[in-house]
Amino acid sequence: MTCELIFVGTELLLGDILNTNAQYLSQRLASLGVSVLHQSVVGDNATRLTETLTVALSRSDMVITTGGLGPTKDDLTKEVCAAFFDLPLCPDEESLLAIRAFFARRGGGMPKSNEKQAWMPQGAVIFPNHNGTAPGCAMEKDKKHILILPGPPREMTAMFEESAVPYLRPYLDGVICSHEIRTFGIGESAMAERVSDLLDAQNPTVAPYAKSGEALLRVTAKAKTAAEAEALLAPVLQEIQSRLGDWIYGIDVHSMEEATVQLLKEKHLTVTTAESCTAGLVPKRITDIAGASDVFACGIVSYSEAIKQSLLGVKKETLAAHTVYSEAVAIEMAHGAWLRSGASVAAAITGIAGPDPTEDGRGPGLAYLATTDGKTVWTKTVQTGHTAGDCRDYNRTVFATHLLNEIRLFALYAPAKRPGGIPLKEEF
Ligand code: AMP
Ligand code: MG
Repeated sequence: MTCELIFVGTELLLGDILNTNAQYLSQRLASLGVSVLHQSVVGDNATRLTETLTVALSRSDMVITTGGLGPTKDDLTKEVCAAFFDLPLCPDEESLLAIRAFFARRGGGMPKSNEKQAWMPQGAVIFPNHNGTAPGCAMEKDKKHILILPGPPREMTAMFEESAVPYLRPYLDGVICSHEIRTFGIGESAMAERVSDLLDAQNPTVAPYAKSGEALLRVTAKAKTAAEAEALLAPVLQEIQSRLGDWIYGIDVHSMEEATVQLLKEKHLTVTTAESCTAGLVPKRITDIAGASDVFACGIVSYSEAIKQSLLGVKKETLAAHTVYSEAVAIEMAHGAWLRSGASVAAAITGIAGPDPTEDGRGPGLAYLATTDGKTVWTKTVQTGHTAGDCRDYNRTVFATHLLNEIRLFALYAPAKRPGGIPLKEEF
């Protein structure tokens, strides 16, 4: 079954609303084995929606629309789609009762304009809306299908799972399974080179992409059953793991912080941070993860030199000899944080986020990191390569990810030496 998606709403064309429905539906349909061949965005305009439907159904078996099911005049998806299949709209008693009940739960009566939402194409399979007022539906003519879903993502996703997926079941001819391999510390092109022969394969496919300074690989297989797809995926995943080693921080994890917190938990370690240039980003990201309190007690934001000395015990002489942007200062910050917090591991960072370089011409995008357990110290110099005027946000994000990665690697290997294969200077 081939499918096209049409997203209706002038607000999408104007860029007022991000088309998150596109991502959700594309991912879910792919996982169901439905090939999505085209996506279109159309404003609230009957003529242009009809044109788009005509093209879409001339080449695909099914169209799924979202948006344009509201009670106002500009919402016309249902009317246009029904007319496209020559289906009259008829009042649907059950939908009308559901809409009335929705307003009653809110303690009010139903506005007259909402009545139009209960008029459905004759013979359509109706998709009830448990999170809003507009029902969706599926209509069929000459083996072509149009499924219409509401625009608000919460309503759309619930309706898709509850009603559209069961409607699609008889037409599905396989499943697609995929895994996301997340790496850090290696650029996208360098990563792709290491697996270049795998990128040509068809089943599973291996696709590289980059996001926020991270390089990712999506490995996808299509088969009759999920078990068969997983059997195709397993050897490819293993091969990629053997080639990328510790650059991989997780498979099917959402973020570096999730992988780091998970590992600290497994190892029964606690962590503290002392940050200058990232100023709280790392604790923020650690505590974004539910259950972070098992591994994290405190973070110190030591922005000024005076606080680095008074709170963390960084020596005046060290600052004078090396400047605040130095490995020596990062080490003293980490030691100070370790001593004061009682955590098993302390990680520190000092660097230049930008946009301006230091007086001696270093940075932006340069940071010094140190991680210690009171016995072993690991240091790392990061050079993001981002020095343009708007680099500050990017550099701070990437610095924070580096510090999280240092904590992860330290938890994985310390007190052993830093493992080979991970270069000290990163390229992005
Ligand atoms: P509608 O069904 O056209 O009344 O949609 C109402 C609201 O849903 C819009 O104002 C948007 O906030 C949201 N919405 C519509 N389409 C999308 C989409 N493709 N992605 C995300 N949100 C959407
Ligand atoms: Mg709309």
